[in-house]
Amino acid sequence: MFDGFLTFKPSCQVCGLDYSTFNAGDGPAFFVMSIVGIVVVGLALWLEITFEPPIWVHASVAITLSVGLSLLLVRPLKGMLAALQFANKAEEGRFR
Ligand SMILES: [Zn+2]
Repeated sequence: MFDGFLTFKPSCQVCGLDYSTFNAGDGPAFFVMSIVGIVVVGLALWLEITFEPPIWVHASVAITLSVGLSLLLVRPLKGMLAALQFANKAEEGRFR
């Protein structure tokens, strides 16, 4: 359903469903920040308590994990939010 890394194709190749109404907005970024933040901070605390490594170890582990996990998660999360929008028939509010 993707055209490139995060752009939706105009429509589904299988059933022709129009993707242009999908708008996940900041949703994927919010969930990625929350999930990656908890994982990376938790791991940093565990690392410090268990091994007390020098600061450069913390820096390299945290940076690598933050970037890696974010890139890994943002695409499936965006797809999931689009699927939820479709399944729940969520759309912009209309008056009358
Ligand atoms: Zn389809």
